[in-house]
Amino acid sequence: MTLINEQKLITLGVYSLETILPRIGFGKKSIMFDTMYGDVSVKVNSVRMECFRRNQKCIICQLVANRFLLQSFGKLNGTHLNLYFVEDFDTKKVLYTRDHWVPRRWGGSNGITNARTMCWDCNQNKKDKFPPSPLG
Ligand SMILES: [Zn+2]
Repeated sequence: MTLINEQKLITLGVYSLETILPRIGFGKKSIMFDTMYGDVSVKVNSVRMECFRRNQKCIICQLVANRFLLQSFGKLNGTHLNLYFVEDFDTKKVLYTRDHWVPRRWGGSNGITNARTMCWDCNQNKKDKFPPSPLG
């Protein structure tokens, strides 16, 4: 598994799903995190976060996420929450994405009804294919 952007990400905190899930989604207020670089407020009411709140399992391979990581692109720059399946922090860590089930180029919407939780690997295989094959 190759996570192209992951090299640049700094992990500021690791949280269980039970800790984060009740606090994210439509209508939820930003969460304040106390990090090594100071306090940071993170928006959690996006379609992406609502998608993760509704489903933490990859719709294609069925892998179930087990952690939220608070990550940034350097100090507090672009701090956000990412959903992951973490088996081992050094060797096996799978990032989750909010997929556009009907791709944008096929006229799919940006709304929650077109959002699916999908792991990075399955999303890379799917790309703009539609309908996506359950077998990849
Ligand atoms: Zn998957």
